[in-house]
Amino acid sequence: MAFSAIHPVVGRIDATASDLGCGLDWNAVHKTRPRIALTCPECGHGVHAKVSSRKLRYFAHDPGRPDDCAWLNESLDHHLLKLALATAVRAAGWDAQLEVTGPDGTWRADVLARNLHEGDQFAWEAQLSPITDDDISARTERYWNDDVDVCWVSTSGRVPWIDVVPAVRVADAGQGTELTVADGVATFNYARGRWNAYEDLLLSEFVTRALRGQALFRTVGSRYRRIWSNLDRGYRRRAAVWTSQRSLDAEARHETMRQRQDIWRQQQAEQEQRAEQQRKQETEDRRQEEERQREIAREAERVRLAALREEQERQWAIEREERQRQQEADERRQRELAEAAEQERLRREREEYVAAQAWWKPVSAAQFDQFRAKVIDHLRQQGAIHVEFDSTKTTPADAYGVVVRDSREIRGVLRPSPASLHRLSRHITIFARNAREAALFTNTGKITSDRVIYFDLPEEEQLSLL
Ligand SMILES: [Zn+2]
Repeated sequence: MAFSAIHPVVGRIDATASDLGCGLDWNAVHKTRPRIALTCPECGHGVHAKVSSRKLRYFAHDPGRPDDCAWLNESLDHHLLKLALATAVRAAGWDAQLEVTGPDGTWRADVLARNLHEGDQFAWEAQLSPITDDDISARTERYWNDDVDVCWVSTSGRVPWIDVVPAVRVADAGQGTELTVADGVATFNYARGRWNAYEDLLLSEFVTRALRGQALFRTVGSRYRRIWSNLDRGYRRRAAVWTSQRSLDAEARHETMRQRQDIWRQQQAEQEQRAEQQRKQETEDRRQEEERQREIAREAERVRLAALREEQERQWAIEREERQRQQEADERRQRELAEAAEQERLRREREEYVAAQAWWKPVSAAQFDQFRAKVIDHLRQQGAIHVEFDSTKTTPADAYGVVVRDSREIRGVLRPSPASLHRLSRHITIFARNAREAALFTNTGKITSDRVIYFDLPEEEQLSLL
């Protein structure tokens, strides 16, 4: 099945064009007698014009056709799609030719659209069979190398290369209705900030827009590649879509706004971070200030305690000094008192000595002998056996008297000095020469009369013999 054939006179004819693309009527080739020798442009085998049960005009190979003719093996769907594309191109006011081979044979367009005024060319490829991304990209480049735009059109349920090369997926909405573009076209919704798939665009409308440059195949911004589909009730990932300049501008505007928002958010974050840092810094400053204040307080306390200790030590030193001074004064006073006492004692001793001198002066040696004789007599009457006297050199210890002994035992003291009686034992016997002397002793109150023994010796030396 093919839509093109070679006419022996006019050359290439097109079953999809009303004038067969060369001013001829369909009846000039269909069911003519004699038959016109039409041939297949691909394999050169004979073909004849036919009309299908659905009123589709086409050329069929004559019997005995070669198996390797590419057109022979093309499906009805493929042909119908090519026909639909050619029809849409012509409706847009462009010329459409089917199965056109490029100038150097690197491509053959299913439908080649030509703008006769501008000279622009746009290839429409019906691609129903599987093809790799690499192959379809390579084939696309061959068109572009010849300054020919291209759009790949598929009716498959799944079109993996739909955003790899300029492509759309078309769907048949139902019996007798025109094909619609179900995937590959999108519009940008600025309010929602996303692309929405345009899923009910008529194929003819799409072709018109594409030819006029109103539909453009463009890369989608990297942040907008999840495209909402109302049909799927979900998102599709698309790196590129067919869309309008208006949508592209809207996406660019949205991207700018998002970048501004990003910058604003980043600034907010930085501001927040700075504020946080400042808060931390303030907290740290406060902590350091408090620590500094505490250190000052501790230092002040140390100084206060040191001053207190110093004051206390000074006080103690004063007290120690005071105590020492007191002690020294006490010692001095004690010393002075002791000295005074010693002076007093010496004075008394001197007095006693002087008194003793005076006491003994009136007594002559003869008188003392008489006195001793009386004492000896008295003691012998008392039973004494061996009476003797200590040295006549009197001493303060014996109160300046002369000690008398009987067989070494003290029996009394002769005539002690009345001023020195306090030096004698209380029980010692005192011998006096006469009553007057005895009275001198008892009158002192230091000795009782029973301890005093006196004689009747005269006061003065007796010169009675005269
Ligand atoms: Zn052929």
